[in-house]
Amino acid sequence: MPLYEYYCEPCNGIFEELRPMREASEPVPCPVCYKDAKRIMPTSFAAFTFRDGYPRRIPDDGKYWHLGKKVSRLVTSARPNEHPEVNKPEPKKRKTKGEKQELQDMKELAAKRELVDLYGNEIKPEEVPEVVEQGRVVRKGTPRGL
Ligand SMILES: [Zn+2]
Repeated sequence: MPLYEYYCEPCNGIFEELRPMREASEPVPCPVCYKDAKRIMPTSFAAFTFRDGYPRRIPDDGKYWHLGKKVSRLVTSARPNEHPEVNKPEPKKRKTKGEKQELQDMKELAAKRELVDLYGNEIKPEEVPEVVEQGRVVRKGTPRGL
């Protein structure tokens, strides 16, 4: 069934309903106040109250909507059609030989106490895989802010 948008006037909010196409234009009871809400077109969103750039949805519990699913944060990635809470994370890539070698080199640097993280703390060899994964690793002496 397609997803349609409905607007509840008393609540001044938008909600979505899955409905058969032939019933799409009939009013749907609002999930908050149970009054009849009329169907709206996505293009009319601009007329409604916005919160953080998104039309206010009801029930408004501080959450956002993404492709009909409720999520707690807005999409921040470059691909706005994907949301980590909706789309499954990609399976972890296996490390290439080069990456393994790089990790090994980093461990050796760490053993020589030449690796620091973004806060200038020394990285121990056993911490290398984790900090590399998180992108926190900085070689000692690397100028900041580059
Ligand atoms: Zn309502």
